[in-house]
Amino acid sequence: VGARVQAPKGTFDVLPEQGAARLALLARCERTLGAAGYGPAETPVFEDTELFARGVGAATDIVRKEMFTFEDQGGRSLTLRPEGTAGVCRAYVEHGMHKLPQPVKLWYWGPFFRHEAPQAGRYRQFTQVGAEAIGSDDPSLDAELILLLAELLRESGVAGVRLRLASLASPEARADYLDELRAHLRARADELSEEVRERLELNPLRAFDSAHEGTRRVMADAPRLLDRLPPDDAEHFASVRALLDAAGQEYEVDATLVRGLDYYTRTVFEFTSDALGAQSGVGGGGRYDRLVEELGGERTPGVGWAAGVERILLAAGAPGAAAEPAAAAPRVDAYVARAPGADAVAAFALATRLRRQGASVRLEQAGRSLKGQLKQAGRLRARWTAIVGEEGVELRDMETGEQRPASADEVLAAVRAGA
Ligand code: ATP
Ligand code: MG
Repeated sequence: VGARVQAPKGTFDVLPEQGAARLALLARCERTLGAAGYGPAETPVFEDTELFARGVGAATDIVRKEMFTFEDQGGRSLTLRPEGTAGVCRAYVEHGMHKLPQPVKLWYWGPFFRHEAPQAGRYRQFTQVGAEAIGSDDPSLDAELILLLAELLRESGVAGVRLRLASLASPEARADYLDELRAHLRARADELSEEVRERLELNPLRAFDSAHEGTRRVMADAPRLLDRLPPDDAEHFASVRALLDAAGQEYEVDATLVRGLDYYTRTVFEFTSDALGAQSGVGGGGRYDRLVEELGGERTPGVGWAAGVERILLAAGAPGAAAEPAAAAPRVDAYVARAPGADAVAAFALATRLRRQGASVRLEQAGRSLKGQLKQAGRLRARWTAIVGEEGVELRDMETGEQRPASADEVLAAVRAGA
């Protein structure tokens, strides 16, 4: 016996109960996003490393610490995708989608990879659902996307949802602000945590995220970008807010909202759930008006979000994620049993004919005695059991216990009729 091979650290297997909950969520995404004009898209799970270095940003935690990067046999540097927006924008440029009516609206679902310390709700392979609207800077797209994610979380039963919202302005206005912030941090560097001090030049915004007491004190009276938005960015932000207000969507404007990706401009937002512990983020996103250009396309505005499928299910108390009653077992129309000496081919053929007429059918496939088979049919709550014997078929009504000889056609008719 060889040593047991286990799933790699930070990965998990999806077993049927949880698989059913995931498929139900996928169907919900398809319905909700499809109804708003978002079409399904898929991009490769690995891309040129360059895409993320340029798109996500070389200074971000994702690119610096969390990517699974490898060389292929041709010496190319590839990376398992840590997020979806960069790949979608690459595809937008690669397929000349700027020639389509704008905005191009896409949604996706699939595996993503980040090399981080695994814990509940934080994995090295996880699933995201995401939506993007590329080709227009209309504030109704920001509001629409926020409302769609809110709706998905509500339909999925995610408890204690909160929405935080901010604007990061344009890169130019942000650069001016960052200089101001750096000056503030430098002036009180001795009060900051070592980590923040080290990242001061590269990513001073991260200081807003710090739990370090001294850093928090310094940040309490740090300048806020939201107070310094240029007029057009301020107007855009006000429009997004007015649309959310009109829709009755609650949110909190949070000037300290930091997102872990460099490509955001203007609107940023994050949904959290009180039902989650430390990993409270269920989904987030924002506007990325320079990303397409960064990836070699024309300057094209865009906005989108991504949400963690596992965190949604965790926060909704879905089966397999928390103690919840098991979902109702799928209906079984007929169980095809075999009496001793029965022809296995005839039994299989009957099961096949039943399945071809659309019935949900199980058959004996584990060498049980006839008694064991009837017990199994009962466990599965089969509506009918067809017992194939040497002399023909007996049809048993599992509700009344009544049993009578029946031709194959009669079995098909009874199962089709249901009751
Ligand atoms: P966190 O602050 O929890 O690290 P993040 O800001 O890195 O989240 P995003 O890049 O915004 O997350 O990704 C969107 C969503 O994807 C998150 O809100 C979360 O639900 C999910 N997610 C991100 N990283 C992981 C992970 N390692 N495992 C499971 N889900 C994740
Ligand atoms: Mg993260």
